[in-house]
Amino acid sequence: MIVATSFDLTGRVAVVTGGNGGIGLGMAEGLAAAGAAVVVAARNAEKAEAALSRLGPASAFIALDVADEGSCRAAVEQTVARFGRLDILVNNAGMSIRKPPETLTADEWRRVLETNLTGAFICCHAAHPVMRHQGGGKIVNIGSMFSLFGSPYAAPYAASKGGLVQLTKSLAAAWAGDNIQVNAVLPGWIDTELTRAARQQVAGLHERVLARTPAGRWGRPEDLAGVAVFLAAPASDFVTGAVIPVDGGFAASG
Ligand code: NDP
Repeated sequence: MIVATSFDLTGRVAVVTGGNGGIGLGMAEGLAAAGAAVVVAARNAEKAEAALSRLGPASAFIALDVADEGSCRAAVEQTVARFGRLDILVNNAGMSIRKPPETLTADEWRRVLETNLTGAFICCHAAHPVMRHQGGGKIVNIGSMFSLFGSPYAAPYAASKGGLVQLTKSLAAAWAGDNIQVNAVLPGWIDTELTRAARQQVAGLHERVLARTPAGRWGRPEDLAGVAVFLAAPASDFVTGAVIPVDGGFAASG
């Protein structure tokens, strides 16, 4: 009997959307440390250059705007053209517009949904034939605590992240027969550019997060590295459709 306990990603090729900073870079560093060649797929090339210097010579930058279907498909094509394969897709790119829901415009709603949810679906859709042809693959979707809870100031963000969980389960069920495992990670409150902006816009957020998080601290991007490696590696070959909080206990506490 062969027991799949390997966390080795040598020879695997990973695409991390938004891998040029924050949580995406934290996960990219984990994947690179485990042996994967990592494609940082994002818009900001300057940030990406700095990220590549931390990921080593097997990494590369590919320009990607997940809100543009053609760009998603081109990023997958360019990855395969350059590396010959695509084993791991991490759908991490995301953004939020923080406003009371009654003041949102339809365009603002669409921008968040198109980036966080539709963009992830298109990247999965583009990666599927490549992974199926190779005999399998790993997809990791990055949700949020707002996949579980509502938000009075970020309705489209919460809707997109809740939708991402249902997308994860649906793709897991659809593609298990292709040996493609699709899972979601729900980060708690992590110190990044995104949440630095949130702390400026939402009074008392910093203190509320500290008070509610049993671990007693904000998370760091590197806190996501281990779960990314697990969900990208043979060790998780029988794990699909799972939704894993990495939150210092935030979701478990009242
Ligand atoms: P950052 O703002 O640091 O990172 C967001 C990343 O998404 C950036 O690298 C950005 O790349 C990329 N991105 C945004 N829009 C697009 C786009 N249209 N096309 C391509 N890339 C895009 O925030 P975080 O690291 O905090 O967020 C990463 C993910 O984690 C997001 O999905 C977020 O919702 C999620 N998350 C974060 C939490 C936190 O506490 N920080 C908690 C729960 C979930 P570029 O610079 O090129 O625009």
